[in-house]
Amino acid sequence: MDNIKQLNQLGLFDAKVPRYTSYPTAPQFTTGIQAKEFEAWLRAVTPGSAISLYLHIPFCRRLCWFCACRTQGVSKDAPVLSYLKTLKDELAMVAAALPKDVTLSRLHWGGGTPTILSAEAIISLATAVRAVLPFAPAAEFSVEIDPSEVDDARLDAFAGAGMNRASIGIQDFDPKIQAAIGREQSYELTSDVADKLRARGIHSLNTDILYGLPFQDAGSIADTTRKLLSLNPDRVALYGYAHVPWMARRQTMIPEDKLPTAMERLVLANTARDLFLAAGYRAIGIDHFAKVGDGLDVAARSGKLRRNFQGYTDDTCDTLIGLGASAISKLPQGYVQNASATASYVAQIRDDKFASARGHASTDDDKLRARVIEEIMCTFQVSLSKVEAELDVIPVDLRAEFARVQQKFAHYANFDGDRLSLTSKAQLLARMVAREFDVYAMNEQGHSLAI
Ligand code: SF4
Repeated sequence: MDNIKQLNQLGLFDAKVPRYTSYPTAPQFTTGIQAKEFEAWLRAVTPGSAISLYLHIPFCRRLCWFCACRTQGVSKDAPVLSYLKTLKDELAMVAAALPKDVTLSRLHWGGGTPTILSAEAIISLATAVRAVLPFAPAAEFSVEIDPSEVDDARLDAFAGAGMNRASIGIQDFDPKIQAAIGREQSYELTSDVADKLRARGIHSLNTDILYGLPFQDAGSIADTTRKLLSLNPDRVALYGYAHVPWMARRQTMIPEDKLPTAMERLVLANTARDLFLAAGYRAIGIDHFAKVGDGLDVAARSGKLRRNFQGYTDDTCDTLIGLGASAISKLPQGYVQNASATASYVAQIRDDKFASARGHASTDDDKLRARVIEEIMCTFQVSLSKVEAELDVIPVDLRAEFARVQQKFAHYANFDGDRLSLTSKAQLLARMVAREFDVYAMNEQGHSLAI
């Protein structure tokens, strides 16, 4: 409890801090980066290299209240099919700008709800991708699966197209909590889809659950966690629910007076965490768990764990291209985000222009800070000599910065002249420590609680 009091004094329970899936974070992107820069950066991709591709499907049959994703509710297929054509056109434009012999190391379909596509549409889009960007050896093809919006034909289509990893969003299995967040999804349905995925050769199954939801308590999250463990997932993401109704209007439907306090959120997170660890999973970074031998576990133990827009990853490609409305691309030169509104994204691609709307060209200082922040978020420590070996230019006195941060988090951080590290009791502070290296002063209200 002394530890909790001290963390409280450091502001853990009040702090609103970015999740640092990129640096700078997306709110810092500006309109200074447009299609011209994106095309030039695509043309500069190393010939013969492997890249990663993310396809964004911004449509859902249902709009869950807790969800802050940019997505559009649709009941008919026509808008989805029209979007699909645009996505293929964008793919062709990107492929034309890339060197000819680039291959795909990772392909991820997310959303929204990728499983909203019909079996024919899935096959058609996957065929289009593989025609211009063939899979590299040991490529991974992952898809976000909504158990409420999938059937055997669509699962067969994904498996036939080479899907070998899948992710199922769960949030919580308690019907009362599901009703309060506007997302009903029974354990039985989820379990059935997990079995069907495995029967189709999916070798890695990821699942997401949330803590910090209305009506959750230690007993309910323990029950959800035990049910989740019975599905035998290879990876689990345990995210804190971010209540940001000023950014995600659907969240105004969530009963705010039933949300747990920051202190209660900590109890919820620790209850689930203890159960995952007791079941033999390894903790990965701030909010993931993986079975021993899973790719994330191997990457974490070999110092190759990375962070990207999907959270933690063992993907080491330095180029990730995002296709679709609002999708973000990350290239060695910086970040580019497509127009967020589906209509303007579609209009630009139909005009034969890239839909780039915002972005950021990374300076040497950004690249350095991005690596420092990524290391802290992945391993809770960062080594001066490791960062210096990886980067050509070190434009700031990093040693002085490490010393400053160590002083600020005195009882929770050590600095031995090379390595700044958080103590085992202080890993909850990782986002706050990472923020110490973020020179783009963030508007605190715009982000979620540090716990
Ligand atoms: S949780 Fe999934 S299905 Fe629900 S609104 Fe968000 S993206 Fe759509």
